[in-house]
Amino acid sequence: MATRIGILALQGDFARHAAVLRRLGAEAVEIRDSGQLDDCRGLILPGGESTTLAKLMNRYRFYEPLREFARRRPVMGTCAGAILAAGRIDDPRVEPLALIDIAVRRNAYGRQVDSFITEVAAPCLGEPPAFRAIFIRAPKIVACGPQTETLITFEDEPIMVRQGPVLVLTFHPELTSDSRIHRLFLNMVENQA
Ligand code: GLN
Repeated sequence: MATRIGILALQGDFARHAAVLRRLGAEAVEIRDSGQLDDCRGLILPGGESTTLAKLMNRYRFYEPLREFARRRPVMGTCAGAILAAGRIDDPRVEPLALIDIAVRRNAYGRQVDSFITEVAAPCLGEPPAFRAIFIRAPKIVACGPQTETLITFEDEPIMVRQGPVLVLTFHPELTSDSRIHRLFLNMVENQA
């Protein structure tokens, strides 16, 4: 049976994640009600606008169900999803889910270069060693706790970090045709007892 992965679908680019997962043979479910989480083996928090996402997550009572889910199952957060998953956020309007021990700064690349594409070294993904990272008004991971493992860096700063079953990245793997990061996440889900 295909592995069922939920994608938080309150706002942002959830549909692109769903397309990549389906291409990899997984079942992708757009989550609009926390009750839908029960049958999912993993969850993606997509990019979007973290202030809007936080508002909607409060309105639709997602905070506790998502924290509860992450105690049992793997979660991947990309861009705004990484902001929400963090333990500390520089913007008090965005309540952290605190799924991973990192601190983030929103929109940290500044106005001039707020969106860009660059090849980063990603040995954790095997061959080829480079990954085309697309940054869109991306945050920076400004601190990482001792339990975290940095998997990819850009300009000596962490851009993909894992702590046990939680994987966060500040760029957008769903916008490239390279599905290795989604494959890595699916492996985390499938190897989870
Ligand atoms: N700038 C957005 C935020 O702070 C994140 C952008 C994105 O997800 N591409 O929430």
